[in-house]
Amino acid sequence: MNLVVMPGDDIGPEIAAAALAVLKAADQVCGLGLRFAEVDVGMASHRKHGVTLTDEAMQAALDADGLILGPCGMTDYPAREEGGINVPGAIRKRLELYANLRPARSRPGIPDARRDLDVLIVRENTEGFYADRNMHQGIAEFMPTEDVALSVRKITRQGSRRIAKVAFDYAQRRRKNVTAVGKQHVLQMTDGLFMSEAYAAAKAHADVAFREVDIDAMAADLYSRPQRYDVILITNMFGDILSNEAAALSGGLGLAGALNAGDRHAVANAGHGSAPDIAGRGIANPCGMILSSAMLLEWLGVRNGNQAYLDACRTIHAAVDLALADANIRTADLGGRGSTQGFAEAVARLVHDKQTRKQKSE
Ligand code: ATP
Repeated sequence: MNLVVMPGDDIGPEIAAAALAVLKAADQVCGLGLRFAEVDVGMASHRKHGVTLTDEAMQAALDADGLILGPCGMTDYPAREEGGINVPGAIRKRLELYANLRPARSRPGIPDARRDLDVLIVRENTEGFYADRNMHQGIAEFMPTEDVALSVRKITRQGSRRIAKVAFDYAQRRRKNVTAVGKQHVLQMTDGLFMSEAYAAAKAHADVAFREVDIDAMAADLYSRPQRYDVILITNMFGDILSNEAAALSGGLGLAGALNAGDRHAVANAGHGSAPDIAGRGIANPCGMILSSAMLLEWLGVRNGNQAYLDACRTIHAAVDLALADANIRTADLGGRGSTQGFAEAVARLVHDKQTRKQKSE
């Protein structure tokens, strides 16, 4: 399998290097046959080529079996006409990555984690309330007068149907429980359409339990009774907000893994931004990027029916749990004393140890 690594901006290169170290360890011990190529995007690309995403980089993303994309600091990019392309956005559109998968789990040893949290948020990624994703031409916000501003929220049957299918497919490999989240009695047509496809998917997956919950109730319940939830199916903007809540409840944004997936491509993205405030100091938590890379291995394993990839994903999770439980290894955002590189080296070592133990017990 050919994986392309695009380090991105700010903390991106530090945490992408950490993820790469862990992937190389998993590759060695699980025999995955991975090959890696590094391709510059973001300001590193702009300095060399005058554009944050070259045509060659986009082609590399299209040709790869999987992509690891570090966070990009788009707010500091130059204007579009000066080469500032929104890298994750352009890749998301071109590779048709319509599902944003955001897991959150309480892990042993994380001081601020809410107990009994283990959810996968399946967030629609191409429409909803996002002004840049909604229109064939123009943007989905406008001002009829200088005192009135309007936003358009787009929900389609096709978009709702395909994301519902992803949620139920994942639920079948987890605890077989889907909760669809919206506010149907207020947003009767848009959430009504989204929910009608969720109910249709529920009917087609009789072995998966299903219910609908309002977003406001969900925001509270995720804090008070997280154990009630497994897979959460949700529209784009509500999903963005709930994902950050879930990440915070799991212990912090630095733990947030994310996979952007479509029918043919998948991209491991950390679930947080490029954190310019801590860039270059070796203290960024690489956990989200490592867990995102493990999600990519899982996606490839399911897609290609390759058990070694699923084993590698599980091994990385177990190693991350062990590393996080040690305050000398985990990073400062989680109350630890570790560094980005030290954490990655510890996880890579634990991946090797796990395999050694497995071989000894066989
Ligand atoms: P974006 O809009 O690009 O998603 P954001 O505004 O949500 O970005 P982040 O870059 O995610 O902001 O950072 C928010 C805060 O969380 C910052 O203080 C940052 O330092 C911290 N943070 C984010 N990711 C990490 C990480 N991996 N390790 C440690 N701290 C982090």
